[in-house]
Amino acid sequence: MESGQTPLRQNAFDPMMGRLEIIEPGLAMFHGFANVAFAWGRGEMIAVDTSSRQLGAMAIEEIRKVSTDPVSIIVYTHGHADHATGTEAFIRDAAARGYPRPRIWAHEDVSGRFDRYIRTAGWQSHINRIQFATDLSASAFSEKSFHRADLTFRGMQLLELVGEAIELHHAMGETDDATWVWMPLRKAAMVGDLIVSSLPNTGNPNKVQRYTLEWAQALERIASRRPRYVLPGHGPAYRGEETCQEVLMETARALRFLHDGVVARLNAGQWPIDIIEAGIKLPADLASKPYLAPIYGCAEFVVRDVIRRYAGWWSGEPSQLFPVRRRDHAADLIAVCGREALLDRARTLRDSGELKRALACAEIVLDADSGDREAADLNAEILEAMARKEPSFIARNLFTGAVRHLKRA
Ligand SMILES: [Zn+2]
Repeated sequence: MESGQTPLRQNAFDPMMGRLEIIEPGLAMFHGFANVAFAWGRGEMIAVDTSSRQLGAMAIEEIRKVSTDPVSIIVYTHGHADHATGTEAFIRDAAARGYPRPRIWAHEDVSGRFDRYIRTAGWQSHINRIQFATDLSASAFSEKSFHRADLTFRGMQLLELVGEAIELHHAMGETDDATWVWMPLRKAAMVGDLIVSSLPNTGNPNKVQRYTLEWAQALERIASRRPRYVLPGHGPAYRGEETCQEVLMETARALRFLHDGVVARLNAGQWPIDIIEAGIKLPADLASKPYLAPIYGCAEFVVRDVIRRYAGWWSGEPSQLFPVRRRDHAADLIAVCGREALLDRARTLRDSGELKRALACAEIVLDADSGDREAADLNAEILEAMARKEPSFIARNLFTGAVRHLKRA
């Protein structure tokens, strides 16, 4: 997941928000919108992620209630702002206690991600404001928001810290710069957003390519170590080898199912639009798992991202290669069937619960005339109904963002 500063109340994923959970002596997880994992001993501490600006400060405050060991190393599991922008509080804590400044480890591509955020700060703040229904200015994506890594790796990196061997492994999943941390003695895996306690968010509608197949492979590699603890980037900690195996392997199976389904259809010569319209749904035994619930992203978004990865942007519809302006197309349709008939049809469809079809009709009228108040109100009503029914946090916020836009217009 990815955000700037997300208010606590918006986290539907984790009832422990804002609290520190002791996993075992010397190992804990702070539950933030994005979590922070801590391991300590022999007068040292490692922090895996620093959460966001606001929650990072809470994380360090909470860990100080159980340990005063200096945070010698911070590891970023990836460069999303909600995982890597709480670092300032960790640096301030070290300075206040007279400890050396923590050294930051990250995969070598994290810095390029920060560069991209800074380059596209306006877009980042725009889409994240809508996706997370939060107040976020472009300054949240400025150079001073990010503390870059002091030390980088590619592939795998071995550290000796807190009296233990600690392995950093590169992976690709929600991002291409991901790291999962493995502590062999404790059999603990700190996996960042490779586990998000909902259906993996590949295919975020407004964001860059994600890596569905590599995500599954990373989870299988973690599972092969047979962890006793999986500390995820979002949501609750998983304990016990059996539970950890299930969450890792079933999540991998879900990703492979969606990925392989798209690839098989592409190989059979199906166009993207046909694959999306036919829909690929998870089998019931996977769809019913609480940790695969589509409460953040959803299966259709994963399908779209796999298509984009292999098949580019064209849907396969000839009219969409060089599409006509929507206003002209809408005017053609209205010339045939009339504005009133389209609005009536939209209302009838809405009343019978066919919300997607209702929206498509109402949107034509608005496309023809963006100043049509009645059409705008009807579009907003339908979108509000869609938002009420929508389980995916991202989709819901995109609908309500569109409603706000219509009401402002
Ligand atoms: Zn995240």
